[in-house]
Amino acid sequence: MLKMPSSQILMQDTPKILIVEDNRINQLLMMKKFENQGFNSVMLAKNGLEALKIALKNKPDLILMDIQLPDMNGNEVIQSLRNKKFPGAIVAVSADSLKKDMDASFAAGANGYITKPIDFESFFVKINDYLKLHDDWEKTSQGQDMEKKSVPADAHPYRINQSISDAAKNIFIVDSQEKLQILAEALEHADDEDQIKKIKAIAHEYKGNAGYFGLKELESIARELDMDFANDQPQEYLVKLTRQLVAIVKGIIDEAS
Ligand code: MN
Repeated sequence: MLKMPSSQILMQDTPKILIVEDNRINQLLMMKKFENQGFNSVMLAKNGLEALKIALKNKPDLILMDIQLPDMNGNEVIQSLRNKKFPGAIVAVSADSLKKDMDASFAAGANGYITKPIDFESFFVKINDYLKLHDDWEKTSQGQDMEKKSVPADAHPYRINQSISDAAKNIFIVDSQEKLQILAEALEHADDEDQIKKIKAIAHEYKGNAGYFGLKELESIARELDMDFANDQPQEYLVKLTRQLVAIVKGIIDEAS
């Protein structure tokens, strides 16, 4: 169930937020986090072109811009918005944490840079800074969503963190079941370039969100797989890692059911 904001918050005009994100799970998580904080005007764009259209039409106060988008690089989108004199705050959101990656986003016109997986405990403090929200807003909305996401010492490696809501957990499990089918198919045809791309995309998604669910094992294998794709490791090695990833995902689904 959604935590309902107080009527006082509902009556306020909350800042307009645009989330640009292609990963379905990240979309849902971020929308929900903003709702929990009492934001009632949150828009979503799934790719760079949509982001441009929505941003120029609706003039959001703040854009959270994923950098790895299916059609464009997020920095190109930022650059293009700034060329068109878009006045709102833009915060780049990326799994890449190297200085050169950050510099590229700032050079394109970003006001801030947040690395994935997002640490939601500090996230809204930063967001409020970017929005320069007035006192009332801060008093009424701060601290509503300070759920602890640290993993207890005895946590099962395949068990989803208990602070995650049932809704988010279900989305993750259903999505993982779909991913397992795609991975099984890809492993059968691992000599096919397109199938390898699918494995790579899945590893990249898990790298971005497994940590948030407290799934350290999954996060670390996904990171390794993602890195090795970037380094062009031999195919047999990638297949071996992918089988390990599949085993972990199966373990997580079993543990959740
Ligand atoms: Mn992305």
